[in-house]
Amino acid sequence: MSDIIHLLPDSVANQIAAGEVIQRPASVLKELVENAIDAGATAIKILIRNAGKDLIQVSDNGCGMSETDARMAFERHSTSKINEANDLFSLRTLGFRGEALASIAAVAQVELRTRRSNDEIGTMIEIAASRVFRQESVQCAAGTVFQVKNLFFNVPARRRFLKSDNVERNHLLQEFYRIALVYPQIEFEYYDNETLVYQLVSTNIKGRIEAIFAKSQKKKWEQQLLTVETNSTLVNIRGFAGKPEFAQRAANQYFFVNGRFMRHPYFHRAVMMAYERLLQPNDNPNYFIYFEIAPETIDINIHPTKTEIKFENETAIFSILTAAIKEALGKFHVAPPLDFDTEGAPQFSVNSQRNLTEIRPPQVQFNPTYNPFSTKNSYKRDFDNWEKLYSGFENEQKRDENSDFSDKIFEENILQDIKNQQFKNLFQLKNRFIIVGSESGLFIIDQHRALVRILFDKIMSQMIENQIHSQQVMFPEEISFSVADLLIFDDCRQELEKSGFIFSKINDNTFAVNAIPAILNISSVEHLLEKIIDEQKNAPQKTAENLHETIALSLATSAAIKAGKMLTEEEMTDIVERLFNCQNRTYSPDGKPITNIIYFNEIEKRF
Ligand code: ADP
Ligand code: MG
Repeated sequence: MSDIIHLLPDSVANQIAAGEVIQRPASVLKELVENAIDAGATAIKILIRNAGKDLIQVSDNGCGMSETDARMAFERHSTSKINEANDLFSLRTLGFRGEALASIAAVAQVELRTRRSNDEIGTMIEIAASRVFRQESVQCAAGTVFQVKNLFFNVPARRRFLKSDNVERNHLLQEFYRIALVYPQIEFEYYDNETLVYQLVSTNIKGRIEAIFAKSQKKKWEQQLLTVETNSTLVNIRGFAGKPEFAQRAANQYFFVNGRFMRHPYFHRAVMMAYERLLQPNDNPNYFIYFEIAPETIDINIHPTKTEIKFENETAIFSILTAAIKEALGKFHVAPPLDFDTEGAPQFSVNSQRNLTEIRPPQVQFNPTYNPFSTKNSYKRDFDNWEKLYSGFENEQKRDENSDFSDKIFEENILQDIKNQQFKNLFQLKNRFIIVGSESGLFIIDQHRALVRILFDKIMSQMIENQIHSQQVMFPEEISFSVADLLIFDDCRQELEKSGFIFSKINDNTFAVNAIPAILNISSVEHLLEKIIDEQKNAPQKTAENLHETIALSLATSAAIKAGKMLTEEEMTDIVERLFNCQNRTYSPDGKPITNIIYFNEIEKRF
């Protein structure tokens, strides 16, 4: 028998690699513009025709290429940017894999014109489906012009997979923003079918944000952007956060790390936490946050299409970010009365895991030999110098190192008090908070979040034990999915059915919802499914556990009584008791604080 293993011809290997790097016109644009930036361009011109399906052209005034380099550039793994693996740790360029041009040339017709400023004459290359058709000397401006025509002309299946023109145009613009927002000093022109859509002059970051976004929204962007800035040994964070009143349904939210765009659902939560209670439901704030961080503390081997980046110190950065945004929002002025932040500029210890808005007691002298556990409930502070407790409170900068510990003890005391008094001092504030009075102070519970936590825990345990109850619906709702969402729905369907849904297929992308989890009392599940699919799309890890949590959280959130419902005393008691039975009663499953304490001495101090 003859041997059966053989090397794929380069053209085929390149086409396979292209599948990874080049998924749509926007990926081509990204690679070409990044190359132009790496080439030191100060002005970049972009021309798009027919949503990039017919033409994507990028011209730059960068360093250009020699005749040989121009040819070499299209070879796989050919790069001028790194020489050895170690260089990866001191990357100064956006590209480094040497794959992009080879991939683009494998699936499109490419024309390159390039000249170095010191060369008399430039080079022109025509290449299509990895085959060079022409290379000759030409007269051309210093710099480089890439024309990428008829993307996927030789891979019809991929071409068919492209979305509608408007969706692809939207992707192109998004990709453009992600780069233009990081390089405000570079001039950009962006033409879409001969129309000049953007002419961006050299400016600073704020100016660039305004130039890009002020166009579509008449509101004054200048007034709406609040400066965010914080420097710590871990990370430097700069950027802008939009004022809450400018929040909108479809907001512009951008994270960049060391000059690259990234997606980071967890840090997004950190930002949203700072906006807590400042937004109308369904409104999202605009933000543009730039992280500068030691490259060795983030996942360096960035895949060209991968926008999620792993950080070594995520929890600490989470806290720093929340505090930085809060500071920018001047939360001390605009916050509603239940926000008890009293400290000045935020201070952090790296291993601080606490990220909720917490009460900062004044610096207190502790008696180090005192054992709080020796006699229960008799814990007292050293009140010998009690007047000192309150002096200089306004200038209080540093959180008492022992206060985490004392919080715990106070909380225990309060819980004990609550138990002993059998919830006598219980009332509801503005239909949103349940307040439990006790000897040691006031225990405040966000009722909606408490319910989300209770239901989430319940649903999770029922899911694990396969005990979820379904309820048939009289008139099954029909839900249609887009091709892309359908893929994700397929992934989730089994788990959704475990959690109480029953679907039947009507046609390729339409399903009927025949039953829903009994816990839900909502009329339409379309929005809920959309949310679950959306979460799953952005989920950093697509594990079954992660999916369970997403589903449980969505169900819990939908089923929980919304903030604003009046509760009877019985209902309040029920919620409080159930909350205390939850393992984690401090945070809701999506990371928001559920409870807050005002200590008796805090109250005393106000008099
Ligand atoms: P990478 O950017 O990862 O090095 P690419 O395939 O994108 O790989 O590009 C290959 C090489 O071609 C680059 O390393 C660079 O030397 C050269 N090159 C690409 N685009 C340009 C440009 N616009 N100006 C000058 N040189 C370029
Ligand atoms: Mg590149």
